[in-house]
Amino acid sequence: MNSRQLLILDLDETLISASESKPDAECDFTVYGYDVKQRPFVSEFLKNIEGHFDIAIWSSGTTDYVQAILEKILPVGIIPVFVWCRDRCTARKNFETDEIVYLKDLKKVEKRGYSLSKVLIVEDNRANVQRYYGNAIYVAPFHGDHSDIELQKLLPFLIDISQAEDFRSLEKRNWRAHNEKNSAHS
Ligand SMILES: [Mg+2]
Repeated sequence: MNSRQLLILDLDETLISASESKPDAECDFTVYGYDVKQRPFVSEFLKNIEGHFDIAIWSSGTTDYVQAILEKILPVGIIPVFVWCRDRCTARKNFETDEIVYLKDLKKVEKRGYSLSKVLIVEDNRANVQRYYGNAIYVAPFHGDHSDIELQKLLPFLIDISQAEDFRSLEKRNWRAHNEKNSAHS
C-alpha cells in the first residue's frame, strides 16, 4: 500500500471554466469548440502543492477534451500520477432532475494502491463524490471570474493538513475559516 498523500483534482469549474466557443469571446485558449478560462492562480497552485501531495486529475469530461486542457494548464514538470476521465466515472441518472451524475468512486483509487486515509478530492460538485464526503473538499464553482481567489485560499489549507494521519477524520467543510483562524494568530 502506497503511503503517499494523493490530491485528486476535478477540472471543470474547479481548475477551469469552459463554455461553448463564441467569436471574440474573452478566454485563455480554445479546445474542441470550447472557450476555456483558467482559474486564477492555477499554475502556482499546482507548482506549490506538488511537493506535498501526489497530484491526479479526475474529470467527467471526455478523454480528448481533458488531455487538450491539461496540455495547456499543467506547468512544465508537473506530471499527474493518473489522469482519469468520464470512462472512469460511474454514470447514474438523477430521476428528480433527469440529469446524469458522474460519480467518482474512490474505491478505484484504493485499487491503485492509495489508502483512502491519505486521499483528498477537490470538487465543485458535491453530487460527484457523495459517497466519499470524508475525502472531499468542496470549492465554489468557477465560472470565469477574474477576481476569484479560491485556489489561493485552498493552497495553505492543504499544506497545513498534508501530514495528517487520516484526512477523513478532519473537519474540512469550513476550510476557509481555518485559514482566517491561522492568519489571525500570525
Ligand atoms: Mg467540476
